[in-house]
Amino acid sequence: AAAPSKSYTITLLPGDGIGPEVISVAKNALKLVASLEGFEFKFKEVPVGGAALDLTGVPLPEETLSTAKGSDAVLLGAIGGYKWDNNEKHLKPETGLLQLRAGLKVFANLRPATVLPQLVDASTLKKDVAEGVDLMVVRELTGGIYFGKPRGFGTNGNGEEIGFNTEVYTTHEIDRIARVAFETARKRGGKLCSVDKANVLEASMLWRKRVTALASEYPDVELSHMYVDNAAMQLVRNPKQFDTIVTNNIFGDILSDEASMITGSIGMLPSASLGESGPGLFEPIHGSAPDIAGQDKANPLATVLSAAMLLKYGLGEEMAARRIEAAVLDTLDRGYRTGDIHSASQKLVGCKEMGEQVLKSIDSKV
Ligand code: ATP
Ligand code: MG
Repeated sequence: AAAPSKSYTITLLPGDGIGPEVISVAKNALKLVASLEGFEFKFKEVPVGGAALDLTGVPLPEETLSTAKGSDAVLLGAIGGYKWDNNEKHLKPETGLLQLRAGLKVFANLRPATVLPQLVDASTLKKDVAEGVDLMVVRELTGGIYFGKPRGFGTNGNGEEIGFNTEVYTTHEIDRIARVAFETARKRGGKLCSVDKANVLEASMLWRKRVTALASEYPDVELSHMYVDNAAMQLVRNPKQFDTIVTNNIFGDILSDEASMITGSIGMLPSASLGESGPGLFEPIHGSAPDIAGQDKANPLATVLSAAMLLKYGLGEEMAARRIEAAVLDTLDRGYRTGDIHSASQKLVGCKEMGEQVLKSIDSKV
């Protein structure tokens, strides 16, 4: 074979708990699809979270951030665990993740909720409602009420104690998340639903105005608008109507968790966080699962699918991404299941074996 024409540097952040187990599987899948697609990866593995606390005393060492910033994409396992819940310095491993997101300036969080035909019974919804759901929530991640000022505690005119927060969005913040959403919709089913509360909130009125104005630049994307209360209802009533959803930070926080419960398989769900330029951050939505860590029980597919998102949204390697997605479906079709998605008559396997089967599927689909 010819020497690879392209090379990408990937920062691997295994982190804590099941993180190292699932990252190892995803790394092997990435290596294999790269060789099939004629490019190569240079992997740099650095510590984050509790693992970094133990090694260096901080959850995000400078070297970890600079390595991540200097790479083409970042793949994270999971962060945290009981071990660090009450450490002497009161440094939480999870602050490492917040610092990493801030350091990489990622403002768009992409969370797909796909009900795979093989796992339709895991859904919390009735089979006919769940079947065929394939949607993506694009959440604004760095603005809105979680960060807006003024915020704080005080007293009102009656001397009563108050807590207050502010929902603020600038046109710049809205435009950049809207662009990510239009581009995402374009790579998917071509439909974008913008969710807001424009009947009540000024920040939402501006949101709707800007999203509507930008739509003319994406004539191939069909735009609709929905109030968030209705969207919450529609997500459980008829989730199939959605392709790509774009919404602000707080609404996206809630709707993306709601959407993930439609699938019912926490071990299967990937995510991506993207910035304007610079590397994106890709990670499973599940946590470090300390209850099963180190036991070869973790489902690696959420991280494998995060690697597929890395290829598609981080590097633009859509063919390689499709190879991984197809291999995950093929592995499930062949009956392999980790404990979290296992039911009678299927082959119960551990994390490593599941990884081997994914590689086999990638190979067999060449
Ligand atoms: P965090 O605060 O880090 O999100 P959490 O306690 O909310 O952590 P998880 O760590 O995701 O949530 O674990 C929730 C449950 O789901 C646990 O019982 C865990 O074992 C299980 N779980 C999570 N991820 C996986 C996985 N990849 N494979 C199998 N089981 C998993
Ligand atoms: Mg959690």
